[in-house]
Amino acid sequence: MNNKDIKETRILEKTLDSLEIRRQAPTGVFILLLLLYFAAALTVSLTAGSQKEILINNTPVSVYIFAGIFSTISNLCVIFMVIFCGKTGFITSVIAIIIQIPTILTGIFIKGNYSSIPGLFVSLLTIIAIIVIFCNKRKLEKYQLKLLEQATTDTLTGLPNGFACTELLNELIKHNKPFAAVSIDINDFKSINDTMGFDIGNKVLVAVASRMKDIADRGLSGTLDFVSRVNGDEFSLIIRDFKSDEDIEKTIKQYEASIVDKINIDGYDFFINASFGYAVFPDDSTVRDSLISYSVTAMKEAKRINSSERILRFTSELKTENHLAIDNKVRKALEDDNVFFNLQPQYDISHNLRGFEALARLTDIDGTVISPGEFIPAAERVGLIDSLDLAVYNKSAAFFGDLIRKTKAPITLSINVSVKHMMKSNFIEEIRGLLKNNQIPADQLEIEITESILIESAEKASDILNELKSMGIRIAIDDFGTGYSSLSYLNSFPSDTLKIDKSFIDNMNSSDSSQKYVEAIISLAHVMDFKVVAEGVEETGQLDTLRSINCDYIQGFIWGRPLSKEDAEQLVVDIYPG
Ligand code: C2E
Ligand code: CA
Ligand code: CA
Repeated sequence: MNNKDIKETRILEKTLDSLEIRRQAPTGVFILLLLLYFAAALTVSLTAGSQKEILINNTPVSVYIFAGIFSTISNLCVIFMVIFCGKTGFITSVIAIIIQIPTILTGIFIKGNYSSIPGLFVSLLTIIAIIVIFCNKRKLEKYQLKLLEQATTDTLTGLPNGFACTELLNELIKHNKPFAAVSIDINDFKSINDTMGFDIGNKVLVAVASRMKDIADRGLSGTLDFVSRVNGDEFSLIIRDFKSDEDIEKTIKQYEASIVDKINIDGYDFFINASFGYAVFPDDSTVRDSLISYSVTAMKEAKRINSSERILRFTSELKTENHLAIDNKVRKALEDDNVFFNLQPQYDISHNLRGFEALARLTDIDGTVISPGEFIPAAERVGLIDSLDLAVYNKSAAFFGDLIRKTKAPITLSINVSVKHMMKSNFIEEIRGLLKNNQIPADQLEIEITESILIESAEKASDILNELKSMGIRIAIDDFGTGYSSLSYLNSFPSDTLKIDKSFIDNMNSSDSSQKYVEAIISLAHVMDFKVVAEGVEETGQLDTLRSINCDYIQGFIWGRPLSKEDAEQLVVDIYPG
């Protein structure tokens, strides 16, 4: 491993460590338990075997019964130390109990104090109990660590994944270290997949990844580079240690050259090229999401102009052009009441209807459909996300309320919420109104929140979720796997359902480790009493695998695309004629 690799690994390790530490009790709790333990143990040694009596309510009580009470307290302290204070707690507990044993043995065999025999047994049993607790905890933590490791690596190429990239960006921004965020997209990659098949397509991606990794690892560019695979044929490059803007372009050109070089796979020659867009911290923005979105905008512009210039830096004109157009479309659609919804069915694994997820839809004036991936961020940007969410909630809930009254179908309506909307002070009231106005039983409504939102706004989110939960509403964690994948951390949120992101389902049947990952998520989720929905299931093979690893629910094109409300109604009426 070279120096750079070591640096990156450390950053990731630090992230994993901080997640671990977050789950452990603070040192203060450990010290408190330890002090309490010593105080209790001291009281036991002073009172055990004592013949004295004290008066309680005028009744004489033998002092030695306090030995029993304080011995229980000291045992509880060691058990809590094992549960809440990790390895340190475990080692301290074992030592604390073992050093007691010689004193007890001396008491029994030398001083003939036979009343300490039960104490000896309790000590031995406590040691056994804490070893069992510790081993079980370790097993769960091992699973967890593996999940975290896998959460930072792309299974196909072995490069760090989007999550690892975001983590590095966060670190650099936090420490105010200048960098360029480069978004890379292979041109016409779809045609390779379409004409040559996924297998070859994947091999091309692996070859591209390994060429880029080679430049970064060997430091050939003269700058410090971090390459990751973000999604499909999209890669990301983070460039540090540059002296001028020319250095950045020089580095990117080197990566470009490595990609355009002929790639030979299974006897076929491929000549590919890619588009590059970049934004610089802190010059272009100091906000992570803006930097990413700017580099993607610049990359798309490079692709769009389709000239020989395939490397573009983000400019403010690009931002204005791109954003203004879509921002206005969202404003206009809300004004004209043109936001509507589709309903995508969710099924249990035996193909019984579980319910629908409401998905926002918006059509342009010329009839073309704009993807939520574009208009949701725009609505967030211009502060209209709550109006947009509400339009979808009101319309879908009115429809759903009528439908369940008519058919008595025991199905669920799932709605998506954006963090910016959820954090508004009247969110809970809106939801209360939604249930009441449309007469929907609370347990037939589910609110989907993306995993990354939960982690970023943990405390406030947790309060709101608790309130929703107390109303009887179900909570689903959306896009699971794309954030921290920290199941035990998520356990502190009052959720019912885990939705595994499509990207994991996609890779499941081509990669053994992906399948094991999904399997591990499902079994851990079940331990924590979550139901699991697999998202984006498209193939029978995936369905078979999910069935064999006990997945609860399926949402995907294989059993149902997002439907118009008329089609959704027909689907329900066919099953529940009323
Ligand atoms: P999501 O919540 O993860 O929704 C699932 C997305 O995956 C939907 O895309 C759905 O059409 C798509 N999908 C489901 N099954 C398959 C499959 O088998 N194959 C493929 N290729 N795709 C599948 P859509 O409708 O484009 O929504 C994108 C995202 O926009 C949603 O992701 C959600 O995060 C957001 N969104 C949608 N509606 C709303 C809304 O009303 N409010 C808010 N705040 N966000 C919304
Ligand atoms: Ca969703
Ligand atoms: Ca999702």
